[in-house]
Amino acid sequence: MLKYRRILLKLSGESLAGEDGYGISPAMLDRYAEEIRQVLELGAEIALVIGGGNIFRGMSAAAENMDRVQADQMGMLATVINALALQDALERKGIFTRLMSAIKMEQVAEPFIRRRAIRHLEKGRVVIFGAGTGNPYFTTDTAASLRAIEIEADVIIKGTRVDGVYDSDPEKNPAAEMYSNISYQDVLTKNLRVMDLTAITLCRENLLPLVVMNMNIENNFSRLVTGETVGTLVHR
Ligand code: UDP
Repeated sequence: MLKYRRILLKLSGESLAGEDGYGISPAMLDRYAEEIRQVLELGAEIALVIGGGNIFRGMSAAAENMDRVQADQMGMLATVINALALQDALERKGIFTRLMSAIKMEQVAEPFIRRRAIRHLEKGRVVIFGAGTGNPYFTTDTAASLRAIEIEADVIIKGTRVDGVYDSDPEKNPAAEMYSNISYQDVLTKNLRVMDLTAITLCRENLLPLVVMNMNIENNFSRLVTGETVGTLVHR
């Protein structure tokens, strides 16, 4: 039995980098593709949004005097590079996929068309949404929230390197405690950095549940989707 049927999984660009902290690790790609394959086999519909932080992050470049819009466009193109890598890893496992880009690039990806995306999902294809929202000043977390709402996903899952949402940064504070569930309101008032404010607000206003979980623990994704308690559930 599936707890969630239509799922939007958000992976950060950094998660693809593996130990190196930059670039794309073939081993990480293969691991994630395997996790996704397992969940697909359970009968779930899966859409993916992938970040670009392992290649380029607009805000960091803007801090070094680059024009912010120009830098963000580079960031969005970085997400397409990651999306292509992930698409390749999935297809090598025999999974049918479609890459849809928020920025038109017809030779590389389909344009994002909501109805078509839903149709792909219904046919069992994994849909990868590339180029974020297509707009500067946004993040791929916001793109993930937006797409999840548009495709009427049952849940948005943020796959991270940590186990869930903590009361302080677990990579800095060893005494940090993890929540098993927490409301959007508490995430906002406690200023917990789960996703950026725009992304959180979108989820909250549209009553979309969010789960933050560790994507680097084997079978975590399928355990969550089949109803086991994994990570932190952020709810209304
Ligand atoms: N970006 C953007 N608009 C979007 C999504 C992303 O301009 O809708 C740019 C932005 O510069 C961002 C970069 O793409 O820094 C990479 O995305 P993000 O930082 O969200 O990736 P992640 O942190 O998940 O790896």
